[in-house]
Amino acid sequence: MTKKKKSVKPSNDAALSRFVRIVGEKNALRGEDMTPYLREQRDLYRGKAAMVLKPANAEEVSKILALADKTKTVIVPQGGNTGLVGGQVPFDKNAIVVSTARLNKIREVDANANTMTVESGVILQNAQEAAVKAERLFPLSLGAEGSCTIGGNLSTNAGGTQVLAYGNARDLVLGLEVVLANGKILRGLRKLKKDNTGYDLRHLFMGAEGTLGIITAAVLKLFPSPRAISTAWIGVPSPEAALTLLNLALSRAGTSLTSFELMPRIALEFDLRHLPGARDPLASPHPWYVLAEIFGDDEARTRELMETLLADGMEKNLVVDATISESVEQRTMLWKLRTAMSDVQKPEGGSIKHDISVPVSSVPAFVKEATAKVEKMIPGARVVAFGHLGDGNLHYNVSQPVGADKAKFLAKWEALNEAVHAIVAKYEGSISAEHGIGFLKRDLLAKAKDPVALSVMHAIKQTLDPNGILNPGKVLRGRKS
Ligand code: ZN
Repeated sequence: MTKKKKSVKPSNDAALSRFVRIVGEKNALRGEDMTPYLREQRDLYRGKAAMVLKPANAEEVSKILALADKTKTVIVPQGGNTGLVGGQVPFDKNAIVVSTARLNKIREVDANANTMTVESGVILQNAQEAAVKAERLFPLSLGAEGSCTIGGNLSTNAGGTQVLAYGNARDLVLGLEVVLANGKILRGLRKLKKDNTGYDLRHLFMGAEGTLGIITAAVLKLFPSPRAISTAWIGVPSPEAALTLLNLALSRAGTSLTSFELMPRIALEFDLRHLPGARDPLASPHPWYVLAEIFGDDEARTRELMETLLADGMEKNLVVDATISESVEQRTMLWKLRTAMSDVQKPEGGSIKHDISVPVSSVPAFVKEATAKVEKMIPGARVVAFGHLGDGNLHYNVSQPVGADKAKFLAKWEALNEAVHAIVAKYEGSISAEHGIGFLKRDLLAKAKDPVALSVMHAIKQTLDPNGILNPGKVLRGRKS
């Protein structure tokens, strides 16, 4: 399928052994030992590679890239291998995977500057816990936090459930250390809030999915730990009502409103069928739900803020019923209902997925229009559109009709994507809100992105990686393909 490339490949042991010498024999994996690095969690892709290298520091990464650039060896950077678009998967039998697993040190927590300097292989949860120990909050929070890494989070500009108040991954970074394709180290680990000295290079590498350089460390922003949290599960009549409620909540709570998630009844029903211990938080069913959370500095005041919001919402017919969590356990359970919503689709058969965003004000119209289109294309298809209403980001997933043939349904993946993305385009939205482009959406990007923006992206890639060694074929098509 793919054309043979002319570049020199380390196809023999002598060439590979030069790479092995940089990290030492026990940090260079081959054969069976590579398996966990070649499989991706959803089993969408099975990768192949010549070797996995686990460097210990930026200097070793630098030596690897300098040698790879000289020998035109394909390098695929990999963090926790939890990516959902195949960006971390190597597809070339001569490729070398550079795993950041050993770049796992938290170098410094500076509570007074509200910063934390971490290496890129630090697992997100470990970063969150280090912040807690210093009585601070690192607010990036997402389903894979127990195994994804900071480097992967930044490379994909991850989102998650607290973007509403704190922004995406890229908004949480003050400084970066990056190894460029030629092995040079860009040392930008600065803690400055203000630094207007020309182009802001750090943002080039965030969201670049390892195609422009390998992030080896970052200075992350910390925030005050919340002293009180109020979480509510709210039954609402429609996405329109949820949108009005969101703006009511923002006007009352401002940036203390940290999450505002929208979920349809069917997603809760999947939870009730497939998530052990799940139960409906409300007495009777509602067509849509909101999971809202407010952070505050005082337990009683925070709860009162939530109660007033809900009472106000009821008066305006935006809220039909609601429950506020009374304990940490209840809060955990409510969040579990939300975070399990991807997994509980699996036992329901095939699911065609979209990770889209539209302007927040357009979410209700988008849902209505896309759902009408999907139901017309595939009668009986079950739309499971849930996600981060506060960010205009929905995981617009479509489960197969009950009893339908899974393979036949999944064969409609591209046609359905095309139809849904056309509606996204109509509302001036994005085909990838928080998962990235990787391999899965590379060709979609080429169609959806503004052509001028796309040509600038190609120019940047050409400048920073002229030999095309860094994660080729991800995000952008190669020049020849
Ligand atoms: Zn999400």
